[in-house]
Amino acid sequence: GLLFVLSGPSGVGKGTVCERLFLYRPSLQISTSLTTRPPRPGEVAGRDYDFTTPARFQELISEDAFLEWAVVHGHYYGTLKETVEENLARGTDLLLEIDVQGALQVRRRLAGAVLIFMAPPSMEALYMRIAGRATEDAAHMKRRLEAAQHELAAYCHYDYLVVNDRVEEAAASISAIMEAEKCRVSRGARPPGWGGEER
Ligand code: ADP
Ligand code: 5GP
Repeated sequence: GLLFVLSGPSGVGKGTVCERLFLYRPSLQISTSLTTRPPRPGEVAGRDYDFTTPARFQELISEDAFLEWAVVHGHYYGTLKETVEENLARGTDLLLEIDVQGALQVRRRLAGAVLIFMAPPSMEALYMRIAGRATEDAAHMKRRLEAAQHELAAYCHYDYLVVNDRVEEAAASISAIMEAEKCRVSRGARPPGWGGEER
């Protein structure tokens, strides 16, 4: 299994595009992160996130249970090593939807991970999307937009950049990236039935 990381500012459309991506890649798994942020209306524990307390999160940090973790917008978020290891060992491709700090930790620990950055077509479009989702109050909106400016600058640490102008096209681009990575000879792609020596 291959490990893909998708980052981009909050509200850029990662969740929306990932839902569309399932039409192209039904066997792709999306990792469920652990967070100390309270659930939003409609979010389901175990599906959107696993929700926990700061004390339990700290405990897991001290047990070195995370592949990566970060504080984002004042809350802890992390990916458990166990989640990643289980999926990759089964041969399942796994997508982590995580922030820039987390993505850079994954890059350091797993050199084979593929990092994809999602950008909005403009800051105005990003503002409209966050406002349209209506899950943040004014103070949180401001904090998220300031963070977005800072986060966009990190695109240069990623392997691929996808602009989410139209959901359909962004999902098709990510699917194409995944397909290309799976065809890489350096990752072990071989002709069917190949038993010979490489020349
Ligand atoms: P993220 O997961 O990155 O925080 P979401 O997937 O929750 O973002 O999307 C934020 C809002 O933007 C949602 O209301 C969603 O419907 C909308 N949205 C996502 N992609 C697009 C797009 N390409 N064009 C217009 N609106 C979009
Ligand atoms: P939200 O609160 O909007 O769901 O997520 C806020 C930010 O936290 C997003 O940028 C999202 O990618 C990031 N995030 C979600 N889960 C994780 C995780 O497990 N690790 C890290 N580092 N960031 C995460």
